[in-house]
Amino acid sequence: MDKLILIIEDDPKNLTLFRDLLQRFGYMTIEATNGREGIKLARTNKPDLVLMDIQLPVMDGIEATRILKSDPETKNIPILALTSYAMKGDKEKILQAGCDAYLAKPVDVQEFLAKVAKYCPAHLKQKSVSGKRG
Ligand code: MN
Repeated sequence: MDKLILIIEDDPKNLTLFRDLLQRFGYMTIEATNGREGIKLARTNKPDLVLMDIQLPVMDGIEATRILKSDPETKNIPILALTSYAMKGDKEKILQAGCDAYLAKPVDVQEFLAKVAKYCPAHLKQKSVSGKRG
């Protein structure tokens, strides 16, 4: 079964980039453009991974991460923070909120895909699967 990744990102260019990359590598994606909407989608869809922008309207990524990580229903979903924050201390703040990993934007594509695959291994399409799975 394909892995589902929730992208929470308010920048249309980044959203398009992440969506295109992930879909090209076999992931299914759903999208939210603010933290509150993201929480709602995470609760409803139980994605395999959340990509979390930090600077978001309505509710920022720090607050959204805290809420997801304090909810038994969603706390086990890995969260990969993607942020253009460059200040020292921000990374700490992001990890303290409960994010599992952190990547700075603009992202390096290889690094991005490697981080995603670490938390959410891609469906290996080149592998043939024989027989039925129960
Ligand atoms: Mn943003």
